[in-house]
Amino acid sequence: MDYRGYFASALNRLRDERRYRVFADLERIAGRFPHAIWHSPLGPRDVVIWCSNDYLGMAQHPKVIGAMVEAAARMGTGAGGTRNIAGTNHPLVELERELAGLHDKPAALVFTSGYVSNETGISTIGKLLPNCLLLSDALNHNSMIEGVRQSGCEKKIWRHNDLGQLEELLKAADPARPKLIVFESLYSMDGDVAPVHAICDLAERYGAMTYCDEVHAVGMYGSRGGGICERDNAMRRVDVIEGTLAKAFGCLGGYIAASEELIDAVRSYAPGFIFTTALPPAICAAATAAIRHLKASSWERERHQERAARVKAVLNTAGLPVMPSVTHIVPVLVSDPEKCKAASDLLLSEHGIYIQPINYPTVPRGMERLRITPSPYHDDTLVDALAEALVDTWERLGLSLRSQAVAAE
Ligand SMILES: *Cc1c(COP(=O)(O)O)cnc(C)c1O
Repeated sequence: MDYRGYFASALNRLRDERRYRVFADLERIAGRFPHAIWHSPLGPRDVVIWCSNDYLGMAQHPKVIGAMVEAAARMGTGAGGTRNIAGTNHPLVELERELAGLHDKPAALVFTSGYVSNETGISTIGKLLPNCLLLSDALNHNSMIEGVRQSGCEKKIWRHNDLGQLEELLKAADPARPKLIVFESLYSMDGDVAPVHAICDLAERYGAMTYCDEVHAVGMYGSRGGGICERDNAMRRVDVIEGTLAKAFGCLGGYIAASEELIDAVRSYAPGFIFTTALPPAICAAATAAIRHLKASSWERERHQERAARVKAVLNTAGLPVMPSVTHIVPVLVSDPEKCKAASDLLLSEHGIYIQPINYPTVPRGMERLRITPSPYHDDTLVDALAEALVDTWERLGLSLRSQAVAAE
């Protein structure tokens, strides 16, 4: 048997489809975000990161670093086992309390990642509800799709944000049957937002539960960083809020916040919670520091929105095909997988700008794009340099720019 041959041919399939991924070797520099060192084939180079999900630069915030270092020095590195075996480390107890408060829920449960929280959270909730019907938005993240799949429940997919179709599916189901509507508050590839209240209205009318992934919104929206549900005053209406500690909070881990009973049941039944080592105390302490800071400080959120608006305006004026986005995500459409990869390569090698290409299957074919995520620390000089670099790249690759006159309309 040629086992290695199977792996090699699997890789060749990806290369043939131009889907083989290459990671840039980057070294972040604490205190100089968004600057980093790229370990290029020709040696180290200074670059500017324009696609990080450390949206607010909290991974380098002195309070967050301080909390991590202090906790590690005092309590050591690893948690020492699953929570069943090692007990719950105290910073984890404090973190869960902080998260429950952030989302105005009675309880919260932390997992080792946002991915795991969706996968094991959704599948466990689905399994605990007898003959549950899962209703899932077509653009849900892979971690939610896997959670739905592993629940073993019947599922119906509704067209992205299509309330009419969601209602048809709810109406067609037995009123006595448990139902769970699974969706995201902020979709990170297009930067659009779910109609949370309208979904909750339907859930109430048809007796469904709601599960909302706020991964791309926590820390960044709402007056205390509670996400889109806080901003829209819908936190109490959504049954389960899921989030990550790894994006705007700059650390690692995921969580769900919900009623005491639901959280206790997931804690007691979810394999992806029970059989894996807990987050280290230093990570928990750092995450708590980030959440507390962003609860009290609006500077990062306001500056983040202002910077995103600035980038959209400058790129639009330059004639670049900025896709409509009502949030901090700035997608620029390329519509070709090879040119998308080539644009990313040119930006890095010629301009010292790092923006990962987004190709199929992350987005549909023909919708390949550069996904730009401005942070509070991308100043006007960096924004202008980005626009110039993109225009140069567009011209070199023969991609079309709108004329200045049209762009100014
Ligand atoms: C990144 C992401 C996750 C997973 O979160 P991690 O903490 O990175 O595992 C879940 N949902 C969505 C929508 C995401 O984009």
